[in-house]
This record gives sequence, structure tokens and C-alpha cells, in this order.
Amino acid sequence: MLSEYLKEVSNLAFIMIAQNQYHSFNLGELPSGCRYCVKGEKLVLFVTGLCPRRCYFCPVSDAKFDQDVTFANERKVEKEEDLLEEAKAMNAFGAGFTGGDPLTKIERTIQYIRKLKESYGSEFHIHLYTSLNLVTREKLQRLCNAGLDEIRFHFDLDSTLFWKNLEIAQEFPWKTGVELPLLPSKKKELKEVIDFIGRKVDFLVLNELEIADNSQSKLCEMGFETKDTLSYAVKGSLEVGLGLLEYIKKLPWKLPAHLCTAKLKDGIQLTNRLQREGKNVKKKFDVVTPEGMLIRGALYLPELAPGFSYRKKLAEAPKEKLLSQLFDIQSKIKRELSFTDEDFFVDQNKIRLLLSAKNLRKYHATFKKYHFLLAIVKEYPTADQLEIEVDFV
Ligand code: SF4
Repeated sequence: MLSEYLKEVSNLAFIMIAQNQYHSFNLGELPSGCRYCVKGEKLVLFVTGLCPRRCYFCPVSDAKFDQDVTFANERKVEKEEDLLEEAKAMNAFGAGFTGGDPLTKIERTIQYIRKLKESYGSEFHIHLYTSLNLVTREKLQRLCNAGLDEIRFHFDLDSTLFWKNLEIAQEFPWKTGVELPLLPSKKKELKEVIDFIGRKVDFLVLNELEIADNSQSKLCEMGFETKDTLSYAVKGSLEVGLGLLEYIKKLPWKLPAHLCTAKLKDGIQLTNRLQREGKNVKKKFDVVTPEGMLIRGALYLPELAPGFSYRKKLAEAPKEKLLSQLFDIQSKIKRELSFTDEDFFVDQNKIRLLLSAKNLRKYHATFKKYHFLLAIVKEYPTADQLEIEVDFV
């Protein structure tokens, strides 16, 4: 780890702009959307996987790209309540609308902006990412009327065709920003965008590029490499961004800029959000780790224990019948062991019973009588409750 750190420091030694407390770099104030995001206070609303563009560095997973699916963080959204439930679970102070391109589903985008503002107040900060391809005055007017606070445009570095649409965004009282992927092979084009946007925007975000494990990303085939084995960040991307910050510093106008690093996105921001969610969703009996993970005892029906095809088995299980069986057993055990509702919980998502790791060990003979498989699990506090460790007892 020390050698990785020294390598990073020596790579950055020529840089004058200091790293901030979030492991990113900024000139001027951080944009409002970023200020919430770095602290893990923003819900990520993936509005749809549909997109008019086909970027060769697209980070969207194969399961979502070009699919009309909506997710609030890891939670699938099928109705407004799913979105509100996730906002509550993480105690969100705002949301970032992304995709795909949210403008391909403008009605849904507007509906969800309105719902969040209605439920959490006008100060609930909402920013939205879009390509410039689908921008029209009418669409932007509707987004503004719904209460959107900040709009961020992904510029196409291979075509200037839609760049002029940026001017339409200036007609509205929100904050306007531009987001650029730091492709080491596109230094010239990146500078051209910066010159083009001039004083038209309130801020610029430069994104350290990462190689995604999906079929849409062609970065590997194009010869890009990661900077080391521990990271998906593209070699040379950060240095291009730091060079651009130096360029921006010398411009005759002020352009607040944020170089968002892979470390900030994958480490700091995500960890902050998980810690927040962990504290908020934990049951009384859960232990929350410093990273926000939950440690708990779990009683599994033998046919639905974690292992091969676990998620598939859960999806195909006769949920109602099994849950009613679990509720019956829960009542019996509660009487037998004098457990309260807070001690013993039916997890309807994963069709299992939850309790403290301590009680699981203490009363393990009782639970075995009901033919459960017993485990101490460590898992994410997110809606998908992804398991990190499952120790069968
Ligand atoms: S990177 Fe963004 S704009 Fe490009 S294809 Fe992917 S979702 Fe669309």
C-alpha cells in the first residue's frame, strides 16, 4: 500500500493544485450537487438505461444499458413508493438523476422530481445529467418548472453537432454545469470544450475515467490500461485532468472546476453513503461496521440458503406460502424464548428470519429443531442486501 501511495505522490509531484479532503481536486467552490454527493447524502436515481448515444467509455452495466429500467441506488423502482422508501432508507438530502439519458423518459423524470420535492421539501437538492442530444427549450422549461436545481451536460468529444444546445440551458435560473470524461487521447478536444463553454456555465466537472466491465466500453480494445492492479482508473486520465485545471486557472474568466477522482467515487462517496444507510436501516440487534456493513444472525430455510443460484431461487420461490410459514414459526419461537418484536424479524425480501448474532449462538439448538440453516452474515445495508460473508454455524 505504501508503495502505491508513494507512486501516486510522485506522479502528482509536479501538480500545484492540492488534493482536497475528499481525495479530489477543485478550483473554486465545489458545485452544490458535488457537495452533497461527496458526503454520501445524495440518492442516485438511474431513471432509464435508454440513451441516444453509444459512448465507447460508457460505464453503464450490461443489465441496465439500453434497458428501460429504473433504480434508486440498488433498489428497483416500479412505483413512486420504491423511490421514497430508498430516499428514507439513506436519509437522503438530495438526488442525482442519471441514466442512460433521463431526457429519453421526460415524463418519468418530471414525475420523480415533483414527487421528491413534494415529499422532502424544496431544499431537497436535485441535479440531473444529460447528453445534449435531446435538449429542447420545451423539455428544459418543464424540468425547471418541476423544480430541478442543477443540470449537467455530457459533451460529445467526437462531434460538435449538439454543443450549441448548451445555450438553451442558460435561459433558466438553475445552475448549469458541464461534465467531461478525461480521455488521455482527447487532450485537444477537452481544451476545445473548455474554450467553447467559456462563461456559459456555472461550473465544470472533470471525471477521472474508469474502465467498466461491460460490453459497451471499448477502452481495453482501444489500448487503454488501468493505472494499477487495484484500480479501474485509466492510466494517464488523472494527469490530463490536473493539466486542464492548470489551464483553467490561467483563463481570463473564472470557471469553478472539480476533478472528481475514481478514489472519491468508489471509495469516499460510496463509503459515506453506506455508513449513512447502515445507521439508518439497522435493526436493533444489528452490529454496524465502520464501513456501514451489517453483521447479524440469519435463519434460512434449507431450500433458500445463500449459495449457488441464490438470487434466482429467491426470485422463483413461492413467496407468500413461505412467508406465512416463517411468520408462524416466528410466533412459536417468540413465545418459547420470550423474544420481543425487536429481537426477531421476518425479512420478507430474502425470506428468512433475522436476529442478533449473539442470540443465534445462544439458542442455536432451538432453531435447529425447526430445521433452519443458521449463519452469521455480514452484508451491505443496501436494498439488495448483498452478502459479503456468510458463516454457517
Ligand atoms: S456514457 Fe452516458 S451518454 Fe454515453 S452512452 Fe453511456 S449513458 Fe449514454
